[in-house]
Formats: sequence, C-alpha cells, structure tokens
Amino acid sequence: MIKISNLSYKYKFSENVLENINLEINDGEIITIVGKNGTGKSTLAKLISGIIVPKNGEILIDDINTKNKKTKKELRKKIGILFQNPDNQLIFPTVKDDLEFALNNLEINNKENRIKVALNLVDMNDFYEKETYGLSLGQKQRINIAGILATGTKYIVMDEPTTMIDTIGKDKIHKIIKELKQKGYTFIIITNNSEELLLGDRIVILENKNIKKIINKKEIINNIDIFDECEIKIPSTIDI
Ligand code: ADP
Repeated sequence: MIKISNLSYKYKFSENVLENINLEINDGEIITIVGKNGTGKSTLAKLISGIIVPKNGEILIDDINTKNKKTKKELRKKIGILFQNPDNQLIFPTVKDDLEFALNNLEINNKENRIKVALNLVDMNDFYEKETYGLSLGQKQRINIAGILATGTKYIVMDEPTTMIDTIGKDKIHKIIKELKQKGYTFIIITNNSEELLLGDRIVILENKNIKKIINKKEIINNIDIFDECEIKIPSTIDI
C-alpha cells in the first residue's frame, strides 16, 4: 500500500505547490491523476516515486519512507517512474544493455532471466538483443516499462506515458497496463488523455494545491463536469 499523509511541497523560491495531501493507494489499484496545467501533478508523481521528498508530511511505500536515505535502493526495487518522452529514459543502444544498467545499479542478479520475463510482460519478447534505434516511440515506452518491471517493482508511476505516442501504440500500452493490473501491479497514472483517465479505478482531481475530489470509475457518469474542469475531452464511450 502507498500512504501519503499531510504532504506539502514547495520548490526553492516558490510558494507551496502541494498542500496537505492525504491519499491511500491500495495494492492492485489503478489511480489516475488529472488536473489543469500547473496543478502539481508531475510534482506529485516525483514525490510518490521518491525522486524528490516531501518538505512536510510523508509518503510510505509499504513500510519504506521515501525520505529515508538509507533505504533508497529498496525503494527503487518497489516503485518506478515512467516519463512522457520514451527517448529520455533510454541510455544505451541495445535493449539488453539498457535494461541491465538499471539492474546493475541496484545490484540485482539473474539479469538475463529477469529482463526476458519483463520483456514478455510488455509483449517485446524478441527484442532482447535488438537496438533501440528505429523502434517506434510506443515500443520504446514498452521497453522502458520492462526496465521498471525487471527491477521487481510492484508500484509504477507514469507521468503522461502516452502523450507522444500514436493511437495504436497508446492502445497497446493501455492493454498492457490492464494486463499488469490483473497480475497485481499498482499504477499511479498522471494523464490528460480521456481514455487513459478511464483506466483508473479511482480518479483523483487536483486543484489549488490539493485534492479537489476523488471519483470512483463507476461514478464518472455522474461527474461529467470534471472533464471540462480539467480541460480534458469527454471520452467517446461516455459521450455516446
Ligand atoms: P502539472 O504537472 O500539473 O502541470 P507541475 O507539478 O509540473 O504541475 O508544476 C506545479 C507548479 O510547480 C507549477 O507552478 C510549476 O511552475 C512549478 N514547478 C514545477 N517544477 C518546478 C521546479 N523544478 N522549480 C520551481 N518550480 C517548479
């Protein structure tokens, strides 16, 4: 479980970007986080994944406090983050080298097997020896997801994971997210895409530094105004 308690955050020379956020995320759940530009979604994603740490309050990933410097490696094995631009997360020319790099950093053994299992989970089985150059952005993003899975994490934060990806690639990633949820993985997805928003079991709306509302997916039909409020197109399935 992820437990966010009384979380506030400010950047240097800024006022608070997030204020007194409280949220519990259950194992196997998908949470989508929406809100207008500048409402702190990316900041929250970085906080949950431990890239930055709260100024006030705390975030527990199972029993690990993201503020604890001594458990940084354990934290990386529990939670990973995927960013918008797939190219920014690929460093080495081949899939194998790229995915091994993260495992080496975390001193994880049995690398080849772990990477192959992870590639299988994102339907990229045949790409272990391949170069990343020339892959579509959707395929690159799937390699990045495999990189996170190979470390053994069960929590995955995604910050606008498909914004740069074409419709076919988007659909494929959404399908993989649903399959991984069935296997027990937990997702926190920042999005401004209406179809992606609907992946969430719960939809968290950020406004004015805080959580404005949390809506269960079943209730979405009674909360159509959130799409306008968050400047998101109404999903075609709901529109109909
Ligand atoms: P969102 O993802 O919802 O667009 P962000 O988390 O990126 O929101 O930004 C929230 C606020 O924090 C914005 O006002 C933004 O300008 C500010 N901000 C984001 N990153 C930094 C930074 N590195 N330094 C200072 N201010 C930042």
